[in-house]
Amino acid sequence: MRLAITLALLIASLTGVFADDATVAVTSHPSDAKVYVNGYYKGRTPATITISSATATPANYRLTLHLPGFKPYDTEIVLAAGQNKALYATMERLPSALGGRTICIDPGHPSETSAGTAGPTGVSENRMNWQVALKLRDNLQAAGATVVMTKQSENEHVTNRRRAEIANAANADIMIRLHCDAASARGFAIFAPDRQGTKYGVTGPSQSVIQRSTAAMGSFYEGMKSVLSGTLPGRGTHGDSATYVGSRQGALTGSIFSQVPTLTVEMVVLTNAQDEAFIKSASGQALMVDALRAGLEYTFRAR
Ligand SMILES: [Zn+2]
Repeated sequence: MRLAITLALLIASLTGVFADDATVAVTSHPSDAKVYVNGYYKGRTPATITISSATATPANYRLTLHLPGFKPYDTEIVLAAGQNKALYATMERLPSALGGRTICIDPGHPSETSAGTAGPTGVSENRMNWQVALKLRDNLQAAGATVVMTKQSENEHVTNRRRAEIANAANADIMIRLHCDAASARGFAIFAPDRQGTKYGVTGPSQSVIQRSTAAMGSFYEGMKSVLSGTLPGRGTHGDSATYVGSRQGALTGSIFSQVPTLTVEMVVLTNAQDEAFIKSASGQALMVDALRAGLEYTFRAR
């Protein structure tokens, strides 16, 4: 008797006799896509979406899946109350804006100016810059970019002038200089040359490099924000002239000698304990790499 009732209930739930709601089991490759039904957000794949507005008369429902880096997946499904359907979506990857680009990664320090700062528990800026640079290099190469590094090992001493010359020799589309700040606030900030400076009798960069660097800075910042928002605050975009060295020389030495657009990214404030813990963790570094890549993608798409 008990078995019969259980069986009846099982059949009822499978055929939807007792359930007025319609459901769609949505899976996608890759997973974690956002699912919208008629424009309303319903969850992330894999997910069983309940459509409580379904009626006895079958109706069309528009299902849209969104995943960053992939083309939106759009389809219509016909559903009546009590029906349970399944949808499997293969997401189509968008071409990367990084394919064919030459990107110079400059892991900051040690240079003629400084060996770099350190965090409250002794985490070295030089080491953080280097670790993130290696992960960023691999990520960009996988996206089809050519990567030029200004250093070949963590403790290699390279002058700031030489760093710019390496980016120039590669005719890089952009040079990204990775640093960690020493300050009181927390979060990431970006600097670009906003006027010419003079060092070793040389005045630079050109007005064209100033304009292109400043333009890149805005989109790069938005790209980083799109990934780090809610995790690491943004401290804004600034001119080189707002830095200590830039205020004395007019621009940072690496900018003065640069013939390609150049950005200095202060990834975190290393002297802040929270930021120090973030950037030394594998998950924090992975998120920072995603943010830097998004910064580059936003920059190249904006052109
Ligand atoms: Zn630094």
